[in-house]
Amino acid sequence: MMKTAYMDYNATAPILPSAASAMADAINLVGNPSSVHRLGREARAKMEAARDAVAALVNAPRDWVIFTSGGTEADALALDGVDCERVLVSAVEHAAVLNARADVEVIAVDANGLIDLTALENMLDGRSTLISVMAANNETGVIQPVKDVVALARKYGALVHCDAVQAVGKTPFDMLALDLDMVSLSAHKIGGPQGVGALVKREGITLNAVQRGGGQERSLRGGTENLIGIIGFGAAAKEVMDFSSIEVLRDLLETQTKTRGAKVLGETVERLPNTSCFAFEGLPSERQVMALDLAGVMVSAGSACSSGTVKASHVLKAMKVDEELANCAIRVSLGWGSTKDDVEMFVEAWSKLVERVQTRKSSRSNAA
Ligand code: PLP
Repeated sequence: MMKTAYMDYNATAPILPSAASAMADAINLVGNPSSVHRLGREARAKMEAARDAVAALVNAPRDWVIFTSGGTEADALALDGVDCERVLVSAVEHAAVLNARADVEVIAVDANGLIDLTALENMLDGRSTLISVMAANNETGVIQPVKDVVALARKYGALVHCDAVQAVGKTPFDMLALDLDMVSLSAHKIGGPQGVGALVKREGITLNAVQRGGGQERSLRGGTENLIGIIGFGAAAKEVMDFSSIEVLRDLLETQTKTRGAKVLGETVERLPNTSCFAFEGLPSERQVMALDLAGVMVSAGSACSSGTVKASHVLKAMKVDEELANCAIRVSLGWGSTKDDVEMFVEAWSKLVERVQTRKSSRSNAA
């Protein structure tokens, strides 16, 4: 079998063994968590245990957790379900936030992708407002000053939603300490299954369900819950991981790419320990991703969450990264199964590509 290196954890993390085994055990559960009989109660007890684990992951009370079909639905419920006149979102948000409704107003970011707090303050005017800012960016790993956003919001009486899909599990995240109103989570970014997530909503904030139906999830998300997925989510949420060894691998990879001429984006500000977004001029993202794939190394260009096609990244555009450079950016993201071998495989394959570009460039300039 071909040796491979999976380095695309921000797109999806491989399932953790504990989550896989919890789900395998759950597959034969019979009861619907809404049924009052014994098997229904058993199913509900398992679901509520998972709710405890997910709540603990972000330090929130258990009854704030509303299970959804993933991060996208959690974002949609927060932005579309809220009872506010205006919704302000940062320019680097995931498409799940940017496209949650048609009337979002966009807050500018600086060259590192950090939200422009002055621009935000200028937009706030006392009307009922929800501000949505992500905890960490999926493409660059840049961590937003969420605390400062909340402080500004409180001054103007606005609510704050935080898409913490990429941050939780990788960097400390405490919903209560940050004084957030709503937080979106997704299981498959932390080693749980795809297709399950949660919106964690502070008590007292009124939301209208986007998916109506039965009275599940306190009437905020109709439909029989994805019990197996939720159990897997709960198991993954219990695994508190130390990302310091992953950060060492990420830094090793960056040192190797920088010596060969790569430019790391967002390098000078606080970032997730597992993510590196860098560009090498003259080497289009798509070519890098495809050549690396042939060598067994899996990374992504721009946001892989979309459609499988590589298009200009709205994140790098908002950071005003030169378009040509932005088209040469790739994202490497590591996680619980990453090893030094992966990094070495990446560096070997990527360096070959770079050497080819450099040879071509120098033979062109010799010919001129
Ligand atoms: N928010 C962020 C920051 C993400 O990175 C993603 C997925 O990449 C999502 C939301 C969407 O989550 P899901 O795939 O669970 O719908």
